[in-house]
This record gives sequence, structure tokens and C-alpha cells, in this order.
Amino acid sequence: MILILNANVDEQSSDYKQLLAQLAALPGIQTRVHVERGAEQKLTEIYLIGNTKALEIADMQSMPCVERVVRVSEEYRILGRHKDDQRDTHFDYNGVRFGQDTLNVFAGLCAVDNREHVELMMRAVRDNGQVCTRMGAYKPRTSPYAFQGHGKYCLNYVFELAGKYDIKVIAMEITHESHLNEIKEALHQTGNPTGVMLQIGTRNTQNFELLKIVGRQTELPVLLKRGFGITLDESLNAAEYLASEGNRNVVFGLRGMKTNMGDPHRNMVDFAHVPVVKRLTRMPVCIDPSHSVGTRQASPDGILDVMHVTAQGVAAGANMVLVDFHPAPPKALVDGPQALMLKELPYFLEDVQIAREAYLKRVALRKNQAW
Ligand code: PEP
Ligand code: MN
Repeated sequence: MILILNANVDEQSSDYKQLLAQLAALPGIQTRVHVERGAEQKLTEIYLIGNTKALEIADMQSMPCVERVVRVSEEYRILGRHKDDQRDTHFDYNGVRFGQDTLNVFAGLCAVDNREHVELMMRAVRDNGQVCTRMGAYKPRTSPYAFQGHGKYCLNYVFELAGKYDIKVIAMEITHESHLNEIKEALHQTGNPTGVMLQIGTRNTQNFELLKIVGRQTELPVLLKRGFGITLDESLNAAEYLASEGNRNVVFGLRGMKTNMGDPHRNMVDFAHVPVVKRLTRMPVCIDPSHSVGTRQASPDGILDVMHVTAQGVAAGANMVLVDFHPAPPKALVDGPQALMLKELPYFLEDVQIAREAYLKRVALRKNQAW
């Protein structure tokens, strides 16, 4: 059960102290306080853990400072979408809104290879009216002999160039706690010219210790990729780890499932789960068509499979698209075969817009039904 308190509640007030005392007297119930500081107001929620079935909503509602009470199902307590749950389905980060009602495209490099390519990529992103990109610095690779990413050595120039091209948010994967510290340090050193959305890759979806560390910081939001060989429920629980530690600015990413049943695509595209994740949770949902499809194959209509699946995900209500581009795909050190070319970026964005309009029309059509 969650008690949502009146906005800007004062922790020193006698009402608040009285509330805590009343809660402490409830047998078999523990409490966990979560405070969310927004631009305009401070929101406090108290999670009641234990035998909450015995508690009456009306009784809890009448306690001091309590505005609303939500009875949560056992699953995904914080990020889940519960019955009569009107909590936010968005968050704002560095001037960009991420919600179940918005759409942001993160076109960029799978892996940073050199400064020139980063600059060409960011300029193309900016020239096409976008403020987000992807830049892989730490690359988890199948082979230990493959390029592992430039790591901390590229961070300063990546962040400086992001500032130069007005990039507000960079999606960047981390695989270790030290990467988090290196990113924060580089942001600090360069004067915070941009923002970073930490990406937890599919190989680390259930790296619980990493999730706890990333969840304990609330400065940077997180894109959690679905594990490619586990159930949706297991991946959603992984997202809940982040929130249970304190960071609820989480986007959930679909990137295809590992099975040969998806051949000739790299993974079995799972974008049918976009509306499912939105129904089960309040997280914005990202699709990664590049790692799902893995090639630049086109169908007889001339449209690349990467773009077909993007349209499918966006027409189903996806809120974020993470997509590999590269100024010279044959020279890319990671995943060149699936990268789109910079000249394709305006066309890609227009195609996404068509799919987004289709989604909005579909929502309006449903709303207009009398039944
Ligand atoms: C990536 O986005 O660069 C990546 C490695 O993705 P995933 O973890 O989904 O394989
Ligand atoms: Mn990749």
C-alpha cells in the first residue's frame, strides 16, 4: 500500500510526526519513505510493507497528511501501474520529457570510435532538430579480443561536443560501478554540458548489484534493456530493483529476444510488448530496432527491416527509439552492418513521424467509440 502525502509536506510538522507514530503502531507493517523533488513541488510517498490486507483504505485516508491511498498489487510496487493509480507516467531530465505520452529518438553511434565521427553524428542530430543521441563508450563484447570501447578516454570530448551541438541527453551503457563514477566525473570536469541516461544492457539486466548501485543514485536516469533470454516479468522486476533503491526515472527498453526463431534477424523482435509494458507499469517504453534486426536488409518495397520494425513499435505507442547510425558504417568498430547512414537520418525521422501520427490517430479513433 502506498500513502501519497499532501504536496510539500513538512517533515518537522506535528501532523507528519503524528502520522509516523500512527504507522509505527500498526502491527506487522514496515514503512519506507520516498521523497521526489520536482521543479515545483516535493512529493512524499510512504510505502507500507507487510500485512497490508488488514488495513482499510478509508482508515488510512483519514490519517494526517495523507492525500491519497493506492493499494498496490505485489508486483512492481513502485514502477507498476496499479488499480486507481493516478501517479505520473513521466519524468523530466535536462529539459527533456520522458513519458508514456512522448516520443524521443536517440539516433547515434553504437560505439564511439573517434572524435570526428562523434562530431559528424552530433551535427547531423542537431541539424535534424533532435536533442538526444546514443554514444557507446563501454562495450560489452562477445569476444575478449574485440574492441571494448574507449571507455573513460572518450568521455570528455563526447560531452564537450554534445554541449557544442545542444545535445541534452546521451544514452550510454555502463557495465560496472566504476563507469558510473567516470561518467559523473567527466560531466563535472566538462561543466555539465549535457546529460547522460545510463543504459543497462541486455547482458546485465539481472546484474542485481549493478542495478542497486545505479538505483541508489538519482542524478542520472536509466534505460534498462530487457534481458534477451529471460521472461518479461523477470526484466520488469529488474527495473523495480532500480526504483526500490530510489531511482524511479527508468525507461524500459525492448531490443529483441535471443532465439534462432527470429532468423534471419539478429533477435526475435518483441515490440508487441510495447503496450503490454505500458499496461503493467508506468515506465516509458523504448524500442531498439538496430539490435533487434541487426542488418540493413530491405524488403521488396525498398524499406529497411530496421525501419519497418521501428514503425511497428512506434505505431504501437513506443516512447523512445534507440537506433544505430554511423557516418561511415563500413568503418564502424562495432555493429557496422546494422548502422544507418547519416543521409538516411531525415528520412528515418520522417518515417517515425508517420508512424507516430498513425498511433495518435489510432488512440483518437478508439476514444471516439461510443461503447
Ligand atoms: C547497445 O545498445 O549498444 C547494446 C549493446 O544493446 P543490448 O544490450 O541490447 O545488446
Ligand atoms: Mn551494438
